[in-house]
Amino acid sequence: MNISRWPVLFSTQRTQTDEEIASSTGLRINIVRKVLYDLFGKALITGIRVKDEKKGWFVYRWRARKDEVDNFIENQKKKIVERLQQRLDYENSADFYHCGTADCQKLTFEKALDLSFKCPTCGKLVNLSKNEKLKKALQSKIDQLRGDLKH
Ligand SMILES: [Zn+2]
Repeated sequence: MNISRWPVLFSTQRTQTDEEIASSTGLRINIVRKVLYDLFGKALITGIRVKDEKKGWFVYRWRARKDEVDNFIENQKKKIVERLQQRLDYENSADFYHCGTADCQKLTFEKALDLSFKCPTCGKLVNLSKNEKLKKALQSKIDQLRGDLKH
């Protein structure tokens, strides 16, 4: 699950029980437990066992490990930058041909030649597609994420 959906847990250094998290997020307790287990497995949270004075039994109080969470998010961002860069390199690596229909696929020059420059899906002629918009969008996202990353 996306970590950003857990601001209740990660915005505070206060410890919380699964029941407290369930009531403040509105999520079902079994979902909360599943996610806590997952986060614990990733070493993003720590738990302390304490006695619930009202109920008389032991419960776990959870807290985000701030440094680990920051590292985790940092690594996720690095992975995204890598993937975007690969896509941009791919787009830059060759010319592509497209019929102009949104749902149809782009063709490499070799593929387009094989098909006599006819779209295999809709049958329209394909033209050289510049992809400048996509490349610009990829580059700007990469720049933005790189700017966010600490070095
Ligand atoms: Zn087409």
